[in-house]
Amino acid sequence: DPDVVVIGGGLAGSEAAWQAARRGVNVTLYEMRPHKSGPAHHTGMLAELVCSNSMRGAALENAVGLLKEELARLDSLIVTSARAAAVPAGGALAVERERFGALVESRLRALPNLTIAREEVAAIPSGALAIVACGPLPSEPLAATIDALVGGRLHYYDAAAPIVALDSLDLEAMYRKSRYDKGDGDDYLNIPLDRETYLQFVADLRTLPKHEPKGFERDAASGDVPYFEGCLPIEELAARGDDTLRFGPLKPVGLRDPRTGKAPYAVVQLRKENADGTALNLVGFQTRLTWPAQKEAFGKLPGLAGAEWLRLGVMHRNTFIDSPRLLTADLRLRTDPRIFFAGQITGAEGYVEAAACGAIAGIAAARDLLGDAPVAVPAETALGAVIAHLQNTESPDFQPANVTWTFFSPLDETIRDKRLRRGRLAERALARLDAFAAEVAPRNPALVAH
Ligand code: FAD
Repeated sequence: DPDVVVIGGGLAGSEAAWQAARRGVNVTLYEMRPHKSGPAHHTGMLAELVCSNSMRGAALENAVGLLKEELARLDSLIVTSARAAAVPAGGALAVERERFGALVESRLRALPNLTIAREEVAAIPSGALAIVACGPLPSEPLAATIDALVGGRLHYYDAAAPIVALDSLDLEAMYRKSRYDKGDGDDYLNIPLDRETYLQFVADLRTLPKHEPKGFERDAASGDVPYFEGCLPIEELAARGDDTLRFGPLKPVGLRDPRTGKAPYAVVQLRKENADGTALNLVGFQTRLTWPAQKEAFGKLPGLAGAEWLRLGVMHRNTFIDSPRLLTADLRLRTDPRIFFAGQITGAEGYVEAAACGAIAGIAAARDLLGDAPVAVPAETALGAVIAHLQNTESPDFQPANVTWTFFSPLDETIRDKRLRRGRLAERALARLDAFAAEVAPRNPALVAH
């Protein structure tokens, strides 16, 4: 009987199974493909890359580049296999898909205490620790199981508004105030818009290019994307009428500009996305506009010409749980610590972030079974930044995101130059990571040799 079952042989599940098995516990990895496939996958390969063959930037001054290096130092199956199957791609780590997938599978198969079961899982098996790594498109029975398990805190679509770095804003163009002065007056930064600027913005939203929904994102009967009325894309609101935004997310009521004493024609609100307020969310700006279109439309708003976008808006089919309110820092369900979650289902967006969750859950599960101290991922590392996003209760509306510098614990010193600051953050991260890797290293030499 397995000690750990992993549900889903994608990026997160393959990594989780590898990390747990290399620590000596018996693992069964369940993958439903090729017998049953979701709408995004095309092959029966483990760790299939559903879209791009790139794992994004490799440089350490790039948060995802640092994350890859940290994972490599933890002998990550995904990252070391990707490096072995790499194709030239400038500053990115891109792979030859078939070689990468074959390598992942053969290295897993070489572990004597790991079984790969090509079966769909509908209910979470009892009698073992379970790592749910079913990705953003789990099969329906499993999605229903998860929904019940997390008390309905499962989302089927994301609706992420852009996030901008505070230090890239022109604060002269904004004022701090919360609507009707409720709450802390510092809660929001407000950008007042005059009529002309507002109408130009509405026109941009109507005309700039947007992403067309994929087939599986549409309702089978109507062909429409089933948006929630309370969470429509900003361009959809703009299309409904000139004033719709002014009576919706850009409404100026209760936001009189303290500098002029007047109520603006419309107001864009920016809300803190992290505890220290260095990252801000554009409230109600969830959108399907393409990224260049977003930069163009939002960059024309007062104070945003030099904006550094930490995340741009997205809306797509994306199944994820409300991790900050459901999971512990080692990715266990608070209400049932036997069950771990890893990968896109947690809201950690991206191939490498999925692998990062898989590594943490796999290590944590094995340590639990071996009676070792629980995993405490250092906050100074990129792995810690992935966890910090999944534990961030600052924003009431949790949305999937890639790893960014926003969630690293800040440096003690102030370094203004961004490159130097990131270099210092990376140096500190790797020093902490090496200590962490030594602490959680597998102790079974026979399994490590694989
Ligand atoms: P997956 O890799 O999807 O793995 C989940 C696995 O679980 C799958 O193999 C699935 O078959 C299996 N499974 C599901 N239900 C069951 C069940 N009941 N029983 C057994 N097995 C089951 N990220 C990027 O970084 N770059 C991109 O270009 C990119 N493009 C994307 C394109 C699309 C269309 C989507 C949906 C996502 C994309 N992502 C991309 C986001 C994300 O990184 C990937 O979805 C990534 O594969 C997530 O890894 P994962 O391990 O969590 O899930």
